[in-house]
Amino acid sequence: MSTFLISCKSNIKPVEKDTYLMGTIVQLKVYGGNAEKATQKALERIGDIENKMSVNMETSEITKLNDKAGKSGQKLSRDTYFVIDEAVKYSKLTEGAFDLSIEPIVKLWGIGTDKERVPSKNEIEEKLKLVNYKDIILDSKNSTVKLKRTGQAIDLGGIAKGYTADEVKKVLINNKISSALINLGGNVYAVGSKSDGTSWSIGVQNPLDTRGKYLGNLRVTDKSVVTSGNYERYFIVDGKRYHHIFDPKDGYPSENGIISTTIVSDKSIDGDVLSTSTYVLGLTKGLKLVESIKGVEAIFITSDKKVYVTSGLKDSFNLTDKEFIYEKR
Ligand code: ADP
Ligand code: MG
Repeated sequence: MSTFLISCKSNIKPVEKDTYLMGTIVQLKVYGGNAEKATQKALERIGDIENKMSVNMETSEITKLNDKAGKSGQKLSRDTYFVIDEAVKYSKLTEGAFDLSIEPIVKLWGIGTDKERVPSKNEIEEKLKLVNYKDIILDSKNSTVKLKRTGQAIDLGGIAKGYTADEVKKVLINNKISSALINLGGNVYAVGSKSDGTSWSIGVQNPLDTRGKYLGNLRVTDKSVVTSGNYERYFIVDGKRYHHIFDPKDGYPSENGIISTTIVSDKSIDGDVLSTSTYVLGLTKGLKLVESIKGVEAIFITSDKKVYVTSGLKDSFNLTDKEFIYEKR
């Protein structure tokens, strides 16, 4: 009887939704009786967060806040205030390798837009003067944030998707869902276990190959898996690749031998910030940071095809591409 029930359960078809939100492909795979309604609520929540935090929307709280830089503060919703607060904490923790005030640099390069180009060193130096998370003034009592200087601006592109994945998970749980796969453009949350009770298998992108080609897979249950890579958004000039993760120290795409970072954690907001941060910090500092945070594990891939895996993943990560060399921590 129980076998019958289990096999019956695993045959249940999920509700699958693919759509374009937050500047990325959103894929939801939701299992269970209430999946249709839960998925609808989840999509509404994603739209709600995008409306509040997008730098590309005239009416978003972030645009309003940026427009008031150097003048006055902007009152924010609980969502936006929370994400900025977390981003500032991580900016401090990483000593500015993650810096949410990176927007002037992001805009200057315009990667992924029709304005993408390699700016002059001069232009970069000018804009870089505006990048400093220490100029973000938080007033928790009034839920207000102010940027000290005119021209300064916040970009939550390295953290908002992680927060959204956590919120989508909450919406699904509140709507009686215990098994789902959330994918916000490579920001994955595997909710619960698969409908047959086994763990999820998440492919880890081969950063040197085309999208969807994996170099290995990770078995996880109820975890966030977030990857940052130089293949996500980039353009090529004179054979050189310029990607979208910037080193706030010099204003150029971060180049230190790392080509992909994957973070496994309970909260996707942590995974999102840490994948971006460790990408900038590089192998040694990145591993040190991850190992200092409880419950967070990582896979780092370097351009010389080495795969560094933290100890907590040694039984769950399986390297399948023999071109890469496994380096245990
Ligand atoms: P993706 O958006 O492809 O998932 P990430 O999570 O790594 O990749 O975020 C990259 C985005 O974060 C960039 O598009 C930009 O908006 C922002 N960003 C780039 N460099 C930094 C940085 N050093 N600190 C904070 N945010 C950054
Ligand atoms: Mg990120």
